[in-house]
Amino acid sequence: MDFLPENISSYVDAHTDAEPELLQRLHRETWQKVIMPRMLSGHFQGRFLAFLSRILQPERILEIGSYTGYSAICLCEGLRPNGRMDAVEINPELNTIQDKYWKEAGIFDKITRYNGPAATILPTLDGGYDLIFLDADKENYPHYYEECLRLLRTGGVLLIDNVLWTGKVVEPVTKHDPETKALQAMNDHIANDARVSKLMLPIRDGIFAVIKSR
Ligand code: SAH
Ligand code: CA
Repeated sequence: MDFLPENISSYVDAHTDAEPELLQRLHRETWQKVIMPRMLSGHFQGRFLAFLSRILQPERILEIGSYTGYSAICLCEGLRPNGRMDAVEINPELNTIQDKYWKEAGIFDKITRYNGPAATILPTLDGGYDLIFLDADKENYPHYYEECLRLLRTGGVLLIDNVLWTGKVVEPVTKHDPETKALQAMNDHIANDARVSKLMLPIRDGIFAVIKSR
């Protein structure tokens, strides 16, 4: 999951804001109770999302793929006082753990949750988002990318997670692997997309940062 040698990674973590206590507990509870805990953003990526949110001070945030609610808490750290987040998550079994930690973080009332597949929910949303975090099923990323561009305001920022897919995107796809294929297609499409300014960040599993320029 991490491309850096472990000692470098520890050094980076040690010189970055500590993981807030609430998020440490959410981290632990996710590992104890939920399948695939590796999907949670974690300490360093979480601090990156929070830092960026503090710079951008968004009023409207959209998160696609909330899982246990970790990244939502980080993304809301820079939310304006009257700001709101829309959170799309297909699995309603995660609602209880999200509720618990979103309440503790004081953001429960600021979030509108949509339980269902992103492909059916995104077309029903109004645009104008300042910040979008795309972190759901990778197979549909090319489709979600277009929806996200529609939903983003001009000058808004889209962050797409796991675009390096533990390095699989640089290898030829030999076997049946729709996720890697979709990621490769979307990454190449973004690289050539004149509507956006883009910066692929080799953070953790790769975050594609995109600004909608027109
Ligand atoms: N953003 C979280 C991790 C998200 S993991 C964090 O960083 O902590 C990906 C999530 O996407 C999972 O919770 C999964 O249930 C959800 N997901 C998968 N397919 C989806 C779909 N079609 N629509 C909406 N959410 C989906
Ligand atoms: Ca992710």
